[in-house]
Amino acid sequence: MTDIRTILRQATDALGDRLEAEFLLAHALGVSRAWFFAHADDPAEAAATERFESLVRRRVAGEPIAYITGTRDFWSLTLEVTPATLIPRAETELLVELALERLPEGGRVADLGTGSGAIALAMAKERPDALVFAVDASADALAVARRNARRLGLERVVFAHGDWLVPLGGEAFDLIVGNPPYIESADHHLREGDLRFEPLTALASGTDGLDDIRRIATASPARLAPGGWLLLEHGWNQGAAVREVLERAGFLNTFTAQDLERRDRVSGGCKPA
Ligand code: GLN
Repeated sequence: MTDIRTILRQATDALGDRLEAEFLLAHALGVSRAWFFAHADDPAEAAATERFESLVRRRVAGEPIAYITGTRDFWSLTLEVTPATLIPRAETELLVELALERLPEGGRVADLGTGSGAIALAMAKERPDALVFAVDASADALAVARRNARRLGLERVVFAHGDWLVPLGGEAFDLIVGNPPYIESADHHLREGDLRFEPLTALASGTDGLDDIRRIATASPARLAPGGWLLLEHGWNQGAAVREVLERAGFLNTFTAQDLERRDRVSGGCKPA
């Protein structure tokens, strides 16, 4: 019988990536990656090997690892993800950091287009004092976010189904955040690699990619408390354009922050006090 070491090596060759092979084998065997260190010489069961090989075939066909395993880590959380949700990305943790800095004690924050719930749940985890609202236009995505909230014991997050700010009640927010779609609809990347498998409505937003950012920026001032902040993630080449959108919508102190790769990633502004 083939041992664990050998099937891991074969999968690494097929995928060109050791880490991905480990993720998939750990998933197929129902173990953690650390388990391999002590069990490299164990024989691999035929059923498990077959399960693993079918996962490797899906990955070779292009399907993102997170959809194959059904999970992705974000912030300090392990989240369920499905093809109804965008796969949370490390760069979005910058948005969480900037948002936490601006959320007053006991403040109200809305996460627009929550997807798997990544931003809202990370904020709820860090700030038990805050009132966190999370909106998504996709009922399927919202069901995933709700399951994540339940599994993580963060059920006080309030979920709402609809378009951006529309389904949220009348009270003002101290902070509005979001990772809306921002890719240009003609961008060829949408038809390549992992992006092909993600929901297009979570990725593309009109000719210049800014349709939804403009909608959110225009609607937000009426829903923010005086001095409240709007923070939005965007593409690496959209910082100046997003600041201009924010300024036109009446926001002050606009800024753009860079992610760990030193690329423009989040812009924000505050409503006049
Ligand atoms: N950051 C993602 C990407 O470029 C896009 C996410 C989004 O449109 N909100 O792959």
